[in-house]
Amino acid sequence: MPASSDHQVQDHAHAEIGQAAAEGDLVAMMELSHANRLATLGYLAASVTHEMKQPIAAAVTNAMAGLRWLDRPRPDLDRARAAFDRIVRDGNRASNTLGRIRALIRKAPPRNDRLEINEAIREVIELTCGETMKNAVSVRTELADGLPLIEGDRVQLQQVALNLVINAVEAMSGVSKEARELLISTGTTEAGDVRVTVQDSGPGVDPDSVNRLFEAFYTTKPSGTGIGLAICRSIVEAHGGRLWAETNQPQGAVFQFTVPAQPESAS
Ligand code: ADP
Repeated sequence: MPASSDHQVQDHAHAEIGQAAAEGDLVAMMELSHANRLATLGYLAASVTHEMKQPIAAAVTNAMAGLRWLDRPRPDLDRARAAFDRIVRDGNRASNTLGRIRALIRKAPPRNDRLEINEAIREVIELTCGETMKNAVSVRTELADGLPLIEGDRVQLQQVALNLVINAVEAMSGVSKEARELLISTGTTEAGDVRVTVQDSGPGVDPDSVNRLFEAFYTTKPSGTGIGLAICRSIVEAHGGRLWAETNQPQGAVFQFTVPAQPESAS
């Protein structure tokens, strides 16, 4: 696909996701098509959090109102009861939203595609080229030939790669534009697993606390959710693989994940 149409696809996807999010309809957002399902995991997590926050905040406000009506010298039971009715309504609202999200996830169980990792990674690179260009990041790819096929959910694995690329771009926002380099490569490990590596020239990771990055809600970004890498790790492990981070030389971070080769296609 020519670069301009990639951008159109991406812009279109972002516009639809943005519109669904603006309408506050997370479920509609999650029902969007393939390209759009490639929203970053952090973005989805932020939307779930947002959608849950409203009914919970409303329940707390109503509980406080109910207590105030009861705490009066002459408790106003009617008003207190009305406040508790509203709490029941808020609780049901939250639980309905969660139920709908759960039903949606069940509707789309992880698929077991036989897939060519390079093809999946190329699509992620195309989808992110608007973001890398906007941030003046120079992107290099080294996709190995003749890799064995893997078995798994293409969209989920693409979400992992997408998250690693976006994290790398964000990490490099603090270094000068000329020094922003991203290398995306594929290959095999000694054990014959397929490997995807995303390497950047950002501030890097502290070797002593590198595992904390994968903990849910660990974030160093003002508007981060800290959930992206936690979900990435669980997706990779559900595929029988591993995801880890290391320090890059001379600077930056290296995030890598492996997925076992499909038995028949392993050499
Ligand atoms: P979020 O991006 O919302 O913070 P993540 O789970 O994706 O959540 O990342 C957790 C944290 O890991 C980030 O806040 C950042 O501190 C660190 N991190 C992730 N990727 C990189 C990277 N490429 N270079 C340096 N630090 C990173």
